[in-house]
Amino acid sequence: MALIERDPGGPTPDYDEEGEDRDQFHIEQMIEEFVDEPPIRHDVYPESEDDGDDGPVRARTNMRRGNGELFYKQAFFNGVAFKEAVLDYVLKTGRNLKQYRYDKAKIGFKCVGVNDEDGSKCEWKVYASILSNDKMWRINRFIDKHSCIPNGECEMLTVPHIARLFVDKIRDDPEFFMPRKIEEIVKADWKISITRPQCQAARKTALKWIEREYDEQFHRLRDYAAEIMEANPNSHVEVECITDDDGKDMFNRFYVCFDNIRRTWMATCRPIIGIDGCFLKNKIKGQLLVALGRDVNNGIYPIAWGVVKVENYENWLWFAKLLKEYFGLNDGDGFILMSDRQKARIDQGCFVELPKIEHRMCVQHIYGHLKKAHGNKARLKPLLWDLAWSYNESDYRQHFNSSINKAREKPFVAMLETIRRLAMVRIAKSFLRLSTKQHLRLRYQQAQMGPSKSKSVETLTVFV
Ligand SMILES: [Zn+2]
Repeated sequence: MALIERDPGGPTPDYDEEGEDRDQFHIEQMIEEFVDEPPIRHDVYPESEDDGDDGPVRARTNMRRGNGELFYKQAFFNGVAFKEAVLDYVLKTGRNLKQYRYDKAKIGFKCVGVNDEDGSKCEWKVYASILSNDKMWRINRFIDKHSCIPNGECEMLTVPHIARLFVDKIRDDPEFFMPRKIEEIVKADWKISITRPQCQAARKTALKWIEREYDEQFHRLRDYAAEIMEANPNSHVEVECITDDDGKDMFNRFYVCFDNIRRTWMATCRPIIGIDGCFLKNKIKGQLLVALGRDVNNGIYPIAWGVVKVENYENWLWFAKLLKEYFGLNDGDGFILMSDRQKARIDQGCFVELPKIEHRMCVQHIYGHLKKAHGNKARLKPLLWDLAWSYNESDYRQHFNSSINKAREKPFVAMLETIRRLAMVRIAKSFLRLSTKQHLRLRYQQAQMGPSKSKSVETLTVFV
């Protein structure tokens, strides 16, 4: 086990200048790792609270890191991605690396470990750069040979580095990620001991960054809205502010609906919309409101989403009004709305705005009530589900959670961007499934009747 001892004091940066690049890289990582849930099967009874399922429990301590592999000509999304890969290498191997090149287009690390037996310096070195005619960073020099003997020194894991490792976790749950917990995780995950004062300083640094984030994210939100409109004409974005007593603009509500998602939903999806909300723990501390659609493949994805300061009647009314306008719901006639029955009083605004919409009961909750009075639970469950199977909210909830949990550790704008990218990739995969089926059918038809043209596969390029 490596032991890292060093002075945790000294100045720490007020601002994580790599934060934005790292978020961008993490979003790319999430998209790459995205695995679509299997289509909903209506022959498996879902678990309910009674079965020990209290909803999806998030693995709070799950530190998503790379595998620490480095190789010649390895490509990276940006410079920060390369640095993250080197950090992973350090966490995996415990080698004492140090950055020696800091250029905007060139970054290098070398091993500063020594061989105590003969006093020789280690030659291990890695160097990556981005060439003007290339979009990717690449490892252009790699001497993958250590002559050093690791002695527990690890200069790279400084207070800012520890803060970077934990900033997303601390944003999501600051009370859970206390210095002691950070120390435990570093020890358990990477077999590295860091001192308690280092952890205290790292947590303080991360909190300082998060504190500053509010203003920055709020300003970025307007740029983000402008970017959306520029890149996605006919989409709809609203950034609503209120002015505080000092005449300063404060965030109030945000809503976005992308034109290509809206068109896909209107053209191919079932007339069912699920709505849900969850708390955001970042500095804005709002509530995320999401409308979910379901396509013919039983794929579920967000079709519109918004952030409000609080989840209340007015905000649901506002959200429903926007949905109604952009999805052509009129008075709701012919559409079905799935929502959490227990929150009916809060989301009542939706039903005021869409008076003729049909509200589907959440089977999960009906089961919860019925099982109290029903002696034979084993018999009740399949009976009830067989009765109610066509639509149920737990499908939506499961998909909602899997999309949102990944996103909500991130700062506000990065979170919104993650939801968008995941929604797009979900739709694209759904199209691919559909296209593959159509493609197979087409090949059969072509074999039978001669060639015909299909554009189904090209449709994919519209997304992501
Ligand atoms: Zn070495």
